[in-house]
Amino acid sequence: MSMHDDVLAAAKDMLRLGLTAGTSGNVSGRLADGHFVITPSSVPYDEMTLQDLVVIDEAGEVVEGTLRPSSERAVHLACYRRYDEVHSVIHAHPVYASMFAIAHEPIPAVIDEFAVYVGGDVPCTEYAMSGTPNLAEFAAECVRNVGTALLANHGTVTVSSSPAKALHQLGVVERAAQIIWGARLVGSLHQLPEETNSLLTSYYTHLRHNSEG
Ligand SMILES: [Zn+2]
Repeated sequence: MSMHDDVLAAAKDMLRLGLTAGTSGNVSGRLADGHFVITPSSVPYDEMTLQDLVVIDEAGEVVEGTLRPSSERAVHLACYRRYDEVHSVIHAHPVYASMFAIAHEPIPAVIDEFAVYVGGDVPCTEYAMSGTPNLAEFAAECVRNVGTALLANHGTVTVSSSPAKALHQLGVVERAAQIIWGARLVGSLHQLPEETNSLLTSYYTHLRHNSEG
């Protein structure tokens, strides 16, 4: 499987799993030659083929493909520029995580093992308009120590070593957001012991910097 196959598979699974709707969101991967493969703008995921994927350079210019690359490519590129260990980026609009993004409320790491996958609480960026350089910078800065961040009033950005892992992590975050939303209706949240989360976070940090993809 090439990175192109992996990006396409993750994009289709993202829709199938209900982690985004319509043509929203986008998936990308880092290529060995320093370029990036990214899903195109406005193509339904269930109809998307390998030929629809677009290859862009560090500046976001198209080097391969005929379609328009995702309008949020700057978010992806800002993450790759900052973090050598990141090989895939997913931007999505999952319902429960987006509820937290609109409330500007972090998703707390209160579910056991959550921090292994995500690195801790999922933080929320400051608001910046979609497609602006500010959004890209805020998003990339927010995933310095964690795998997923909330984009204020918008959705999520997830970074990982492969498209499949990024998608899995996004699923973990969305499920946690749903559970925590419900838990708050049932009662108040109980935090995990500090030492539990710091141990789990150290696993995340180790895996992030020592993963084969
Ligand atoms: Zn978006």
